[in-house]
Amino acid sequence: MNNDPTELKRYIRQMRFPGIGNVGQQKLAESRVVICGCGALGSVVANTLARAGIGFIRIVDRDFLELNNLQRQVLYDEADVARGLPKAIAAANRLRQINSEVEIEPIVADVNFTNVEELCADVDLILDGTDNFEIRFLLNDVSQKLMIPWIYGGCIGADGQTMTIIPERSPCLACLMSDGPPPPGTTPTCDSAGILGPIINVIASLEANEAIKILSGNLEQVSKVLSVFEIWDNRMRQLNLESLKNSGQRCKVCVEKQFDWLSGKKGSQSAVLCGRNSVQLSFPGEQLDLEKLESELSKLGQVTRNQFLLRAVIEDFQITLFPDARAIITGTEEISVAKTVYAKYVGN
Ligand SMILES: [Zn+2]
Repeated sequence: MNNDPTELKRYIRQMRFPGIGNVGQQKLAESRVVICGCGALGSVVANTLARAGIGFIRIVDRDFLELNNLQRQVLYDEADVARGLPKAIAAANRLRQINSEVEIEPIVADVNFTNVEELCADVDLILDGTDNFEIRFLLNDVSQKLMIPWIYGGCIGADGQTMTIIPERSPCLACLMSDGPPPPGTTPTCDSAGILGPIINVIASLEANEAIKILSGNLEQVSKVLSVFEIWDNRMRQLNLESLKNSGQRCKVCVEKQFDWLSGKKGSQSAVLCGRNSVQLSFPGEQLDLEKLESELSKLGQVTRNQFLLRAVIEDFQITLFPDARAIITGTEEISVAKTVYAKYVGN
């Protein structure tokens, strides 16, 4: 942010708020964040933070846009879907139109143990826009290792919850869920429970609010509770996290500094994508030559390619390939079927 009066004018209402002021606004302008996942939650968080004048926003997302995203993913429109853009790229385009003062860095990638440290090392805050606990536990590890705060948020159906984790000040995600993520298949998914737009806006707005507090230097205002909303049934609850800290159990992550997700000891490299009838396969460290694959796969089915991805429709499957050797196989929720399709058409 420079001190040009026309530029300050943009934030005048926010600066008039006593908790922000000139000093807080300056701090926001000097702040750097990473938003992991730019679907529903990430869209709202990124939108709010870009408008608030956060200096640098890195957006990491592995996915591309589909029509059924538009119901709740507020940064995107029908033209983005028609262009087949990755979400990170479409998000960056929109955010630059919203606030050209903010530096936006889109990264089309899967967040995993090989890249998460690099993606988070140079930021002041990590924001959760993902839809899965594996990545959240990875973010929790990296937060405790690099001593960077992070904000957890998650939604399903009309329910959502959020919690702010500041290393050495508050309990971490592993304090809350000491047995790790719920096993696959034991919790509802977007497929079984659906998702309503309003709960996304509630949780993402709270995440953005916590971000503004932290980045403007108002750490004492940060929430010390897990907030749980069940908005269809008109219930809101707050769980005091201080009691977790004093429960006497030694947290493996924030107390013993054992980072099993970050070391790759825990976690997988394939994931069933929530509500998508799709499986993602990733091969960290490898690369795909999309041009070469285009000429090979076009002998077998219908192929389209842009600079970010290649899409092939072969038999009953849609295969979407990215240069970082990731594949999203649509048409199955079985990891083994997806691996077979990948091996058959892409190689292994
Ligand atoms: Zn902990």
